Amino acid sequence: MKMICISCPRGCELDVSKNGDEVVVAGNACPRGKDYGESELINPTRMVTGLVRVAGMRKPLPVKTASPVPKGSIDAVLFAMHQMTVQLPVKTGDVIIESVAGTGVNVVATANM
Ligand code: SF4
Repeated sequence: MKMICISCPRGCELDVSKNGDEVVVAGNACPRGKDYGESELINPTRMVTGLVRVAGMRKPLPVKTASPVPKGSIDAVLFAMHQMTVQLPVKTGDVIIESVAGTGVNVVATANM
């Protein structure tokens, strides 16, 4: 499987395959590329950003997951963000949703409001 490593701006083109139980990564210029290739093959994850409603305001609060979540959970994470309404005040880094969609990952505010 060909993929671009997105762990840094260099963007190495990786060739990731399986040899039995072993994941083989080629094309990486550093160990982070190997980690990225393995993770993309076995359990791909993504950071998720979004907006949540703020009670009494038209302007929404920008949020993100505190760490990457499994790609298969992204729809459920976005749905949970869509269902949420927060009360102000909120500071950057405040937890807005704990263990969003059962992932064990919190959604946090990315702005002060
Ligand atoms: S393999 Fe290393 S150098 Fe290449 S894009 Fe990934 S992190 Fe950057």
